[in-house]
Amino acid sequence: MTNSKSNIPLVDTAAQYRAIKKEIDETAIRVFESGRYIGGPELEAFERDFAEYLGVKFAIGCSSGTTAIQVALQAYGISAGDEVILPANTFIATAEAVSNVGARPVFVDIDAETNAIAPDKIHPAISAKTKAIIVVHLFGQPADMKSIVNICQNKKIILIEDCAQSHGAIYYGIKSSGQKTGSIGDAGCFSFFPAKNLGAFGDAGMVVTDDEKKAKLVRMLINHGREEKYTHDIIGNNFRMDPLQAALLRVKLKKLERWNDRRLEIAKRYIDTLKDLPFQLPKIYNDSKPVFHIFAIRTDVRSAVAEHLKKNGIQTGVHYPLPLHLQPAYKSLGYMPGDFPEAEQAAKELLSIPIYPELTNEQVDYIIEKIRECF
Ligand SMILES: *Cc1c(COP(=O)(O)O)cnc(C)c1O
Repeated sequence: MTNSKSNIPLVDTAAQYRAIKKEIDETAIRVFESGRYIGGPELEAFERDFAEYLGVKFAIGCSSGTTAIQVALQAYGISAGDEVILPANTFIATAEAVSNVGARPVFVDIDAETNAIAPDKIHPAISAKTKAIIVVHLFGQPADMKSIVNICQNKKIILIEDCAQSHGAIYYGIKSSGQKTGSIGDAGCFSFFPAKNLGAFGDAGMVVTDDEKKAKLVRMLINHGREEKYTHDIIGNNFRMDPLQAALLRVKLKKLERWNDRRLEIAKRYIDTLKDLPFQLPKIYNDSKPVFHIFAIRTDVRSAVAEHLKKNGIQTGVHYPLPLHLQPAYKSLGYMPGDFPEAEQAAKELLSIPIYPELTNEQVDYIIEKIRECF
């Protein structure tokens, strides 16, 4: 059993399934019995609900977060010869999508406090070839969108939001009524990888936008470049979301607010009870509502803490141990150690501890107790 005090995984997707098993099982059977396994009303219903949830006009289901970013870039015309700016500390998919459309990823250092791209470091990275910025709301914390939107408007650069970790996070820095991440830039890209705040039972993703033309283009790009069955207007791909995943995600979407609130409650409990200790905790800012996909503390004795927690049955993780500019896959771009000191330091010091809605207060307190023992 994963639910005991001394066996706490970093994420527990099965615990979430157990909590809503009946509804999930009934929904899966409904889809199986429908005989419709590609496209159709289940997918359309989830796209509609997700668009409404975010406050955007269009949502297009994709096969993953990675393909969502890729087709969003394609729809906005990004291709060979273009440069796309993105943070050095993110999951590799953000950069892969850029490379896969033939463009060049241009990395920018992060802010040591937010772990997101540092707005003041974007300017020096802009060139005549810069077509887009991909902002990543890392760990579920909205990035400094006001500054980034300003840069994009001034320089006429397309703004894509990588919301793979920020489903439901709200930013209040531009409109006081708040905007969900994904609804702020030109397009928002979501991943429903099982461990994300809104996770499928397999791979799935979504592109959202208010731009009708781009939405139409995305829909063609994910479905063999067609609007009609056997007329292929452009060269597309098969990057569709399954109606089975869509139907299951639609069930989970109804729980997302509650789950995100529980994550925030756990995060506050961690912060309140650990703030006297000598390491850096995530900050909760006045201008946003984070959704704590990941709760990462920052300490120069990371391995000792991880080891102590492991000995006590608590799993930890590192997001991410090697910044993208130093990944073997990106060697040809010519970056060197020292190019992005904040991202490199963060990669050495960040330590993710368990955070998910199904954690009990007792488990959270046990984790807190074991962390305190390290200091
Ligand atoms: C998970 C993730 C992705 C990719 O999503 P997939 O659905 O796994 O392809 C992209 N960007 C970030 C920041 C992620 O965390």
